[in-house]
Amino acid sequence: MGELKKLIDTVRIYQPDFNIEPVEKAYSYAKEMHEGQFRSSGEPYYLHPVAVAQILAEMKMDVTTVVTAILHDTVEDTDATLDDLKEKFGKEVADLVDGVSKLTRIESQTLEGKQAENFRKLLLAMSEDIRVLLVKLADRLHNMRTMGGIKKPEKRRRISLETLEIYAPLAERIGVHCIKEELEDLCFEQVNPEARESITNRLTYLREEGGSVVNAIIDDLGKILKEAGVEGEITGREKTRYSIWKKMQRKNVAFEQLSDIMAFRVMVDKQEDCYLVLGTIHGKYHSVPGRFKDYISTPKPNGYKSIHTTIMGPRRQRIEVQIRTHEMHNEAELGVAAHWAYKDGNHSKDRDITKYRWLRELLEILEQEQKPEDFWEHTKLELFQDRVFVFTPKGDLIELPNGATSVDFAYAVHSAVGDKCVGAKINGRIAPLNSRLVNGDQVDVITAKTQNPSPTWERFVVTGKARSHIRKYVRNQQRDEFITLGKAMIQKVFRQEGYDFSEKAISGVLKDYKLERNEDIYANIGSGMFVARDVFKLIFPSHKAEITKRPSEHMDQAVMVVRPDNSDRPMPIKGLIPGMAMHFARCCHPLPGDRIVGIVTTGKGVTIHTIDCETLENFADTPERWLDVSWGDNEDGQGSQIGRLFITMENETGALGTVSTVIGRNGGDITNLKLTSRTIDFWEMTLDVCVTDTKHLNNIIAALRSTSTIISVERAKGR
Ligand code: MN
Repeated sequence: MGELKKLIDTVRIYQPDFNIEPVEKAYSYAKEMHEGQFRSSGEPYYLHPVAVAQILAEMKMDVTTVVTAILHDTVEDTDATLDDLKEKFGKEVADLVDGVSKLTRIESQTLEGKQAENFRKLLLAMSEDIRVLLVKLADRLHNMRTMGGIKKPEKRRRISLETLEIYAPLAERIGVHCIKEELEDLCFEQVNPEARESITNRLTYLREEGGSVVNAIIDDLGKILKEAGVEGEITGREKTRYSIWKKMQRKNVAFEQLSDIMAFRVMVDKQEDCYLVLGTIHGKYHSVPGRFKDYISTPKPNGYKSIHTTIMGPRRQRIEVQIRTHEMHNEAELGVAAHWAYKDGNHSKDRDITKYRWLRELLEILEQEQKPEDFWEHTKLELFQDRVFVFTPKGDLIELPNGATSVDFAYAVHSAVGDKCVGAKINGRIAPLNSRLVNGDQVDVITAKTQNPSPTWERFVVTGKARSHIRKYVRNQQRDEFITLGKAMIQKVFRQEGYDFSEKAISGVLKDYKLERNEDIYANIGSGMFVARDVFKLIFPSHKAEITKRPSEHMDQAVMVVRPDNSDRPMPIKGLIPGMAMHFARCCHPLPGDRIVGIVTTGKGVTIHTIDCETLENFADTPERWLDVSWGDNEDGQGSQIGRLFITMENETGALGTVSTVIGRNGGDITNLKLTSRTIDFWEMTLDVCVTDTKHLNNIIAALRSTSTIISVERAKGR
């Protein structure tokens, strides 16, 4: 029970009138739940969570955090459930314990470099409440303090490396200096005991030799404070062994003198006193150029504030002096925790406000620190919290934007994996390719040699890499389709004009088009860039073509390719650039009489849409591609345009016949018909009708609507 009393007494120091009941209750509950469990050292398990709570109480954290710490291993390691905790300790504590358990579950192996960086981000992203991370750090700190209980040296080493790579930098990032330093020193002892030992010896020697110097310097600095008329506290502080070692490694130097290991700190009450003290010190001693840093006016990304300067001290030694207020010092030691520490008064109210503001700022800071050069390119939406971190089966971490799916993941692993993926296992279970991934998921992509990217994937992928690969594939495939279509079109013209088709004839005009292969010509015809009849005329310049009455030689494709400068046919559209290929959009099937607009598409010429076509939204931000066009007035009264209708009708004998009769009676000509759905009661179909203009089509629609077996008729609008 001694540990409980100590914990309560510690909280009482900063919160004298706090309600001890939840702490006592959590203590008994943890003790009961962990009953029979022991740590590697042999002591009862429950002492660990209580010690973690003690660390947080010493950081003056609020009672909720202390209670969370006592319970932090109950859900993961005992029969306790989140519902139990919610019932006994409330939702806030249950949520926090849940957060800590999630972090515990993803603890895995030693990661280095970018992997470690991603893992730190994962931990941060998963810690929706920063207190979750603080409990996790205190948990790690206590585990490191009690590491002696672990027998296997390689396990101690592995845990220490992980702590150095992940947890110490995390503590630094959120500014909790005291945890960072202790973690580093504990790890140093495991990872490189020889180096630590030799630094310790050297420190002892320098300390003995320079002991009087330290006191003399403190005296001198005291006089300076007096001179400046400022109240303050002066300390001579030894740098940590780990930081000395890192500096030795970084600069490849040995440490020789006291100034390498000692830093002096002046702490005052007010910010302006910091500058007053600085001015007096610089007035009295020479400052070493290039060593002055003002982190008060420009704090470090993790919020650290202080003034650093190096001077040639009273004993002609270089000494480093840090000047800060007590408040700045407190924040430097506790970082974010300082913002969560108990404060007198109505803290619960402003806590909710600071919670969100603080987290947001923190995330921005982290993002900024990682890639400062990219920072301004990031919009708010793409900030850190909008990332998701998932594992490969080997345990590598992959960073993806929020909303990413298994397909995005597959392409992030490798484009060949993306192209061939047929399915994915998420956390061991088969899941659809479009499932959205969440933090910590482990994804195993299933591939098949015969698989190809599907255009439908483009609807759900969110990464540029996935999208561009899918598009590239679809484009190539589209080209194949254009080649087939274009070849069929030119063959048809040959047939109509009574010629035998030959590849050789096509090759003969490659030069004229500056193209290399026949396929290039076919692809251009198929995509509407070239008119098949023009190609034919180029091959047989002397042939006198008949003027075909049909508006298009490939009506079944519902694409009409015409050229405004083609004198064979009336010019249907005004406002086009002469020589440019034009076709009517298949989404909305514009008819004379509709208000229309032209969209310039590279490689395809101009596409004509109705002004209310939904597809136009895609071009909203490229106004330069919009062409003002209108219908020409030279209509010959013949059916010459295609209108598309969606019809729903009753499934009845002869119903289809009725439709064709009604359309025929109204002067329309059905050119294409496709049943899209067929149930016992209804048929749904898409129907292309050849008409003269909108008015004509509207007459047909009206006639169909008044037919009893027909339920609805709609004109295609951008579908
Ligand atoms: Mn623990």
